[in-house]
Amino acid sequence: MRDHDRRRMPLADLIDECLSGAECLFDPDLHEGPADTIELPAERDARETVAKEVCASCPVLDECQTYTACTAPKTGVWAATTPTERTSLHTMSDGSPLGGRAVA
Ligand code: SF4
Repeated sequence: MRDHDRRRMPLADLIDECLSGAECLFDPDLHEGPADTIELPAERDARETVAKEVCASCPVLDECQTYTACTAPKTGVWAATTPTERTSLHTMSDGSPLGGRAVA
């Protein structure tokens, strides 16, 4: 399966295929957010904080970090990173000027 196809797969399917033993299997909504309700920013921040704590104790965190770096999922908490954090890391690793910020 190509990385492009993997980015479109639901979290549970990805986990089944690549990361058996993943802690997020037990509560995918915690990592992805609600599918059918609007989440307020404060609610999203709280959910992401808890999801990152779950990731920190996940037995496949190392594998998930590699997977996340390779596939760059656009949504959800993966390997204890939020989409915003992954975008920042990706931008900096691309050699662009630290996400558009001035460098002293
Ligand atoms: S590190 Fe987090 S996102 Fe990755 S498999 Fe484990 S619980 Fe899921």
